[in-house]
Order: sequence, then structure tokens, then C-alpha cells
Amino acid sequence: MDITEHLISPSYHRKPDFISGERISDFSWKCKCCNSTEDITFEMAADAYWKSSIKLSEEEHSVLNKIFGIGYVGKSHDGGSPHFMDTKCKKCEQSYMIYLGIKEPNNSCLHITIQAISLWN
Ligand SMILES: [Zn+2]
Repeated sequence: MDITEHLISPSYHRKPDFISGERISDFSWKCKCCNSTEDITFEMAADAYWKSSIKLSEEEHSVLNKIFGIGYVGKSHDGGSPHFMDTKCKKCEQSYMIYLGIKEPNNSCLHITIQAISLWN
């Protein structure tokens, strides 16, 4: 598992990209390799929270924490909890790792910040 480049890097100052019931339009970004437009939907991001769709070993988890600068306390850069999802470019199948910071300030209301989109091999 190797992260080679970040399209978006983690920041303490990022505002949520998705808020349940308020801001749920797709987040669009371009594949670094083929320039195809890819989308992250609110549902995809919320699934990473509710279902933890990606299965990572403890070692992979600690590697990702290190790469993205997630400290021992285990908080995401926005003060929420860190979640990861992997996705592939629909056109060229380049793999990407996406790091999400997710807060749940009220019952089931999610504030989701896309903290990183990184090329992943
Ligand atoms: Zn691509």
C-alpha cells in the first residue's frame, strides 16, 4: 500500500463539504492521470461512516494515520473522527484513497469534510 501523491491535502481549516439535510451536492474532482471528472456523493461519504466499507488491517490503518498526519488522539483535522474510503477512477481505474473527517454533532446529522484525496497503489 503506497500513497504517491495528494490531490487534496489535510488541513485544520477546511469547512465541511457535506452537511446532512443542508449541503449535499456532489463533490467533483478530476483524476490526476486521465483528467476524467469524478464525483463523491454524500451517500458514498456517509457510507464510509455508517458502514466503514473499507477493510483495513491495523498496520494499514497506522500507515494511513502517519501519511495523513492523524495523531495519537485519533481525531481528524477538523476535530471529528477520521474515516477512509477507496475509490477508482471510472475511466482509467487509478486507485484513490479518500480521507474524510466526520462529525456527528446531533443525532444522525453528519458534517463531512473531505480532508484528502490521494493517489494510491
Ligand atoms: Zn482516471
